[in-house]
Amino acid sequence: MDWSSKIADHIARIPRSGIREFFDLVTGRKDIISLGVGEPDFVTPWHIREAAIYSLEKGHTTYTSNYGLERLRQEIAHYVEGFFRVSYEPLKEVLVTVGVSEAFDLALRAILNPGDEVLYHEPCYVSYSPCAVMAHGVARAVPTYKEDLFALNPEVLEKAITPKTKVLILNFPTNPTGAIAPPETLEAIARICIKHDLIVMSDEIYSELRYDDVPHVSIASLPGMKERTILLHGFSKAFAMTGFRLGYACAPAPVISAMMKIHQYSMLCASITSQEAAVEALLHGKDAMIKMRDSYHQRRDYLVNRLNSMGIPCHMPGGAFYVFPDISPFGLSSNEFATRLLMEFQVAAVPGTAFGPSGEGFLRCCYATAFEQIKEACNRIERFINTL
Ligand code: PLP
Repeated sequence: MDWSSKIADHIARIPRSGIREFFDLVTGRKDIISLGVGEPDFVTPWHIREAAIYSLEKGHTTYTSNYGLERLRQEIAHYVEGFFRVSYEPLKEVLVTVGVSEAFDLALRAILNPGDEVLYHEPCYVSYSPCAVMAHGVARAVPTYKEDLFALNPEVLEKAITPKTKVLILNFPTNPTGAIAPPETLEAIARICIKHDLIVMSDEIYSELRYDDVPHVSIASLPGMKERTILLHGFSKAFAMTGFRLGYACAPAPVISAMMKIHQYSMLCASITSQEAAVEALLHGKDAMIKMRDSYHQRRDYLVNRLNSMGIPCHMPGGAFYVFPDISPFGLSSNEFATRLLMEFQVAAVPGTAFGPSGEGFLRCCYATAFEQIKEACNRIERFINTL
């Protein structure tokens, strides 16, 4: 059979993730220091793993409610109220999913009609545009700029809105720039969303990983915004639980119920083992999370200072675990810079263009890597730029 003509047109048109494409180059190579993959280098804290083991020991090996364990939804609602200052009804406004990834996909599929436009600020997480297209939407990037520290500029946003725009995706702190949105910017964005009747999908997966004592503000907590926001969060980053594949959506009941329709037929439920571990994370995971965050904080400061002192301009990102240095002064494209750094000096970092065209001239370095590795990577990067 000729499968090339059998694949759905809108899927065939989606390009492969730039990150994966780049990391194919790394496969099988020795001595590579990776600042590439956006994943905590910590193992999930022991008490959380122990809760997972205990869940299995007790023989909890069944499906759960499609919405997720009631106990977990209650703890999520409690945590979200304390951390994001927004209250949700645990039985109707919370859906437990397989990572933020699934929550994100469900939300788009639940709200988009073919041709509806989805705006997102770029450079951005690699999944946003493909997921919008897979849900038959039209993905449209709104560029962000180094001068604004990659926070979304409300004026630029408003100019991008058309009568077909239905959804705005926000992600603060941002992957890959580490950007945070100052409260006044978030308020201006909220006013625009209300004025143009937009739905906001707010991916707040890095919200605990904020530095410099700046508290996280969710757009859902601003006046008039809870009713139009789908808040997406999960356990992967702050609790170092990527492999547990657990996330959730909090939103008004009608959209949760629409998302649930898709979830029950496509996924059924998230793993019970992961859900029981997540209850433990929410109840007792704060200390371990703060320790990990403090360690990222130290690494961020070191990496940003080293890059700037060797002559690579790099803003101080407010959150997540990425730095996004400006490599344009060296006269190479992002892709050339990253490929040569990898091939000649064995440091893997991701070209900014993997996160959209507005990432040209930048490089994403993830600092969720051992301190010694970061130091050595900096030594190699310095040697590399001295050859240019
Ligand atoms: N959203 C952003 C911004 C991410 O960076 C990632 C993973 O890197 C995800 C979502 C996926 O999260 P999860 O592991 O919860 O599916």
